[in-house]
Amino acid sequence: MPFIVAIDGPSGTGKGTVTSYLAKKLKLMYLDTGATYRCVTLKLLNEKVDLKDEEKIKEILKNIKIDFEKDKVLLDGEDVTLEIRKEPVNSNVSQVSHILEVRKAMVNLQRKMSEGKDVILEGRDIGTNVFPNADVKIYLDASVDERVERRLKQNQEKGIKCTEKEVRENIEFRDNNDKTSKIGPLRQAEDAVYVDTTDLTIKEVENKLYKLIKSKKRDNKWIERGYITTKDTWCKRLRKAIIKGFLASLYHIFYRIEINGLENLEQDEGFIICANHLNYLDAAAIVLLNKKNIRFVAKSDLYRIPIVSYLGHTFDIIPVKRGKNDLASIKICLKALKNKEILGIFPEGTRKGLAKNVKVKNGAVFLAEKAGVKIVPAGIGGTFKLFTKIKINYGEAIDIKAYQSDDPAWIDKASEEVMNKIVELSKK
Ligand code: C5P
Repeated sequence: MPFIVAIDGPSGTGKGTVTSYLAKKLKLMYLDTGATYRCVTLKLLNEKVDLKDEEKIKEILKNIKIDFEKDKVLLDGEDVTLEIRKEPVNSNVSQVSHILEVRKAMVNLQRKMSEGKDVILEGRDIGTNVFPNADVKIYLDASVDERVERRLKQNQEKGIKCTEKEVRENIEFRDNNDKTSKIGPLRQAEDAVYVDTTDLTIKEVENKLYKLIKSKKRDNKWIERGYITTKDTWCKRLRKAIIKGFLASLYHIFYRIEINGLENLEQDEGFIICANHLNYLDAAAIVLLNKKNIRFVAKSDLYRIPIVSYLGHTFDIIPVKRGKNDLASIKICLKALKNKEILGIFPEGTRKGLAKNVKVKNGAVFLAEKAGVKIVPAGIGGTFKLFTKIKINYGEAIDIKAYQSDDPAWIDKASEEVMNKIVELSKK
């Protein structure tokens, strides 16, 4: 799976320098998305297009050709690397970049250029709009004074003439425009790491981000391995039987176990067990304390931890990336259900989700509908304090067909019904 790093932030925060360094050091393709907007701006200016003339802009966008070749930016085959950093592009790029058609075309172009590649992109809306599922999101910031100073120095080095006043006005104008725009505004993604670079040297920022991305890359390698279901060899079966027997006996030593309704796990087809999620130990309790092979669906981050990864592969835990449309995970789940396997899912999505008022997740019902299987609700009761009682009550299988309707909201309603049943069982 491609590895995507999104670096966002206002101009003058060192994004360009840092991103180009990180791209080389981490062997990622570097995409300066600002340069794509600058190219469009240059072309519109060269062709003297009225920025309100939507039809003409659309036509220009259809034929524009933007390429990156080593350190050069090419517009329709011509080297415009320096020209796009000067006036009048500087004063117009912010306005141009927030024209809906321009934004749509450039976001498409940026996604296309990145397709299938390990890539680092810098811009304003990468983590929020272009790649909301990016593996690493960083928001770089710095005070206006510091950014003005940096941009002045940078322009001097590039031989671009300008005054301090011009640079300040341009930065302030673009900040305001970028942050208040209705289209692709500059804002920090919720899951982005915020880095204030005001008092940091470029080297310090580079080192900080390098460490952060490198460790995420390493984690990702482990997580990616979690998506590979290992072969069902006799060796794996033996290992699983030994670990299952050992861990189950620990449960019996440290807890008083009561399990009811095990007959509901006797189905001819694959099915999904949906339970309430109280504690880290409850998924293991469901997997270990019966004779069935149950594959839990768990957050992919678990595969980062080597020992958990080992157990994950032994028990064929299916990883899922939280809050993302994880197609790879869905495919594994559907294949398993078609193979008549049993999946375990917590519709709360997180521990004690109901108490935290989280919306019940509809993934289990979605999978049940797609694979045409039933859902067995399981209510878990207990505190998981040592030497107390753990109770698991399995209920009768629910055929979700009964809830299906033309109203797209049926899936949420069915998920809530399943959750109600689970809560009822957990109180028995
Ligand atoms: O990064 P740079 O300063 O070259 O970007 C030029 C302008 O392009 C920004 O001021 C912003 O208005 C626009 N831009 C954008 N979205 C991006 C990258 C740049 O709106 N992803």
